Amino acid sequence: MTNVTHALRSVQARIAAAARQYGRVPADIRLVAVSKTRPAEDVRAAMAAGQRDFGENYLQEALPKIKALEDRRPCWHFIGRIQSNKTRPIANHFDWVHTVDRRRIAERLSEQRGHYQPPLRICLQVRLVEDESRPGVPPAELPALAEAVAALPRLELRGLMCMPPPEEDFDRQRAHFHVVRECLATLRERGLPCDTLSMGTTGDLEAAIAEGANLVRVGTAVFGPRDTA
Ligand SMILES: *Cc1c(COP(=O)(O)O)cnc(C)c1O
Repeated sequence: MTNVTHALRSVQARIAAAARQYGRVPADIRLVAVSKTRPAEDVRAAMAAGQRDFGENYLQEALPKIKALEDRRPCWHFIGRIQSNKTRPIANHFDWVHTVDRRRIAERLSEQRGHYQPPLRICLQVRLVEDESRPGVPPAELPALAEAVAALPRLELRGLMCMPPPEEDFDRQRAHFHVVRECLATLRERGLPCDTLSMGTTGDLEAAIAEGANLVRVGTAVFGPRDTA
């Protein structure tokens, strides 16, 4: 077995164990393998091991990879910060965008999504700490943004995403994810057809699954540590 095959199996085993522990169905939890900084060959190897969903943070890095893998048609998730002048390639080359936090960005993505393409799937990023410099929408502002996004013709609002500050302690990890779960419940009570909680990474996927995550974004545990140099 190649390294990535082995790593994918152990991540799937972690997901399944957490699902069982918290009364969830493992098949309801989708694994997005975060391939940022990894070459297209690593994505190809993961696909050979059965992985279909991949997450990318940086557009410049993602576009050549997407092109290189055009014949394989993986499902691409944009999970990075969105610059308003870079929305067109995101709208055209990705299947999901997890990091929408402004109405103007959503409007541009909707205008720029190709008419021959299915609607772009959207998660709104929730800001869990009161820090204006961090991306995301404060929970109190979510309903208004969610309603605006749901009304845009070329987007399909699917749910919420978060990237909480790193915590070692399981209960503290879980407390962050709990806030996002409650936010999703609020949107559903308002009649918005959201079904996705995109939360949990290598360090905290069990806590996210305990709080209802049905899409986890895992990089390090799938592809190994990233070279930060
Ligand atoms: C890098 C990244 C991940 C994956 O993190 P790991 O700790 O490598 O699993 C998930 N989500 C986002 C938004 C990221 O930037």
